[in-house]
Amino acid sequence: MALLLLVGCAARAPTRSPQSELSAAAQALIHIDDRTGNDGDVVLVARAAVDAVHVAQRWGSVLHPVTLRLHPTHDALEVAAHQKDVPWMRGWARFDEVELETPSSWGGHRAPATVRELLRHEMTHVVMYQQVSTRDGWTQVNIPLWFREGMASVTSQQGYRRMTGEQLGEWLRQHPSHDPWMGADALGPDTQPVVYGAAHRAFERLLARISDEGVRKILDGLRQSGEFEGAFTTAAGARPAVFLANFRRELEQASALGDAPGPGVAAVLSAMSPNPTAAFP
Ligand SMILES: [Zn+2]
Repeated sequence: MALLLLVGCAARAPTRSPQSELSAAAQALIHIDDRTGNDGDVVLVARAAVDAVHVAQRWGSVLHPVTLRLHPTHDALEVAAHQKDVPWMRGWARFDEVELETPSSWGGHRAPATVRELLRHEMTHVVMYQQVSTRDGWTQVNIPLWFREGMASVTSQQGYRRMTGEQLGEWLRQHPSHDPWMGADALGPDTQPVVYGAAHRAFERLLARISDEGVRKILDGLRQSGEFEGAFTTAAGARPAVFLANFRRELEQASALGDAPGPGVAAVLSAMSPNPTAAFP
């Protein structure tokens, strides 16, 4: 990990190949498969990838080299990710691969900081998958969306994109029969900001309760048992459903107390939904 710190100032090799944007230490962990021929994007992504490895290793090592595949268009990304009609998606992570829409295709959101954020998010997914399973077994480990996305969103510091606790509490009070954590799949695509906001805030709450060490304990438990419920309960001292129910109550109570006039939830959601980089699944 110390070696990787040197990568940011590595000199550019004279022959331009995607891989030459990385130092020898980074090349051992990251392979760039460029399908765009866009040198500027490759440089941007290579630098962001090195940073992302550092940030994501908060949860454990990158144990298997990761291929970053740069696709020229959003459609090409959707095909590679086997997803359809997810206009906000910019990346898709698997056990040792990340599919990316090349930044210059994002339209107005190519700033290095945004690329860095995307790579941190996706690399966190990769580290989590590698920590809990093997290349052949990772798709069999059932980890709830709120935990996966909350972990990636918090690690990549995307809280500024997410609903605040107050906004979430207000939404929850208005939708008493909806559950954006355990019942995220039942909510429509319009509620994507709620699902990601709920995931982010719950993971933050979990961190406040059990710290990084507790989260790593959950990952250890998952590796040993492949079962989220038990791994979470052992590390957090409460079943996931109980933790989430308590958190929901906290949010609802805080929002009821602070019923100050402000932008309604509907206004917040309509302002968030069209954001092309609102989330990186
Ligand atoms: Zn994600």
